[in-house]
Amino acid sequence: MKLTIAKNMQNSASTIAIACGVYRFLRYLNRKKVRIIMYHNISDYPTKWTNKKSSLNVKVNVFERQIKFLKENYNVISLHDLVEHQIPKNALIITFDDGFYNNYRAFQILNQYDLTASFFIVADSTINQKINSKEKLSYIINKKGEKYVELVFKKRFPNHYKKLNYFKAKDNNNYMSEAITSLLTKKEIDVFTSYIFKEKISKLETRSIYLNRKQIEEMTSKGMTIGNHSLTHPILSKLNISDLSIELAQSKKQLENSIKKRVDCFAIPYGITESYNESILKEIKKTGYSVSLTAISGLNDKKYNIFELKRISVIDEPLNAFKLRIEGFYGFLENLLTKVKFLRIAIK
Ligand SMILES: [Zn+2]
Repeated sequence: MKLTIAKNMQNSASTIAIACGVYRFLRYLNRKKVRIIMYHNISDYPTKWTNKKSSLNVKVNVFERQIKFLKENYNVISLHDLVEHQIPKNALIITFDDGFYNNYRAFQILNQYDLTASFFIVADSTINQKINSKEKLSYIINKKGEKYVELVFKKRFPNHYKKLNYFKAKDNNNYMSEAITSLLTKKEIDVFTSYIFKEKISKLETRSIYLNRKQIEEMTSKGMTIGNHSLTHPILSKLNISDLSIELAQSKKQLENSIKKRVDCFAIPYGITESYNESILKEIKKTGYSVSLTAISGLNDKKYNIFELKRISVIDEPLNAFKLRIEGFYGFLENLLTKVKFLRIAIK
C-alpha cells in the first residue's frame, strides 16, 4: 500500500515536472555531460536470482519503450568513444551488469534499433556457468525468507549476530544480504552461501541464469562491448592484493580468450563507495583497463575520472519518470533531502 502511494506520488510528480518543462531544462543544462545508464535484468518475470525486493528488473516492453526514446532523443555512444573523447552533445551510454541470460533479449532489441551497449560479465559465471555467491544468496532469501537465513547465520557466526540490529535498522527489507556481504570475508561468504544453497534444485532451475559463450560471441560480432565485472563478484576492498589481482587479471584473460578480443572496460562489483578505494582504481589501471565504472549515482561532467565513472540505475517505471531519472532529477532531489536533514540536525 505504502509503495503504491509512493509510486503514485512519484508518477504525478514526474508528470507535473515534465509539464512544467523541468525535463527540457535539465536536458539543456546537462547537454555537455555524459549520462551512463545501468540495467541488470530485462525480464517480464521477477527472477529468482535477484533479490525480489530490489527494483533491478525492467519489463521487456518498458525497456523497449525506453530504448526507442533514447534512439530518438540522445546520441548513444560506446565506452570506447568516451575513452577517445568522441563525445557529442546529449551523449548517453547504455550498460548492463552481471551478465544475466535475459540480457540477450535486450541485445536483440538494441540491435533492432541499431544501438550499441556494454555488457559487464562475471567471468566465472559466463565461462564456467558457475552460480556466484550473490545469486545463491538472493535465491535462498527469495525462496526461504530473511528469517531462515538469519537463523543459519546465528548458528554459524554467533560473534557477528549482535551486529545484525544495525543492518535491520538501516534497511529492514534487505538486511541479511547487506549484513552477510559487509560482515563476512569473501571465503566465509562463499562457504556460507554454498552451505545454505545445499538443497537440491532441479537442473531446469539453474539452466540459463547467465549469458553463455555463444551468445557473447554473437553480441560482440554485432558491435556490443563485452566488459569485465570480475571473476566472482566479490567486494574488492575486502580482498588481499593477490586475490584482487586474480579478480582483475585472471578474469580479463579468461574473457579475452573466450571472445578473442581485448577486454579493457571494467565495472566495479557493487560499485558503491565502500566497495573500492584509490589503490583499487590504480590496480584496475595497472591491469590494463582503459575505463572503469562505479554504481555511484550521477552524470559525468567534463572533469570526470575515467576510472571512477558515475552511473544512473534504471528501474521499471513510466517513461516520464525515466526521462527525469536519466537527467539526474531524482538524484538531485535525494541529495537535497539529505542536506535538509543534516541541516535540521545541525540546527537542533
Ligand atoms: Zn554486479
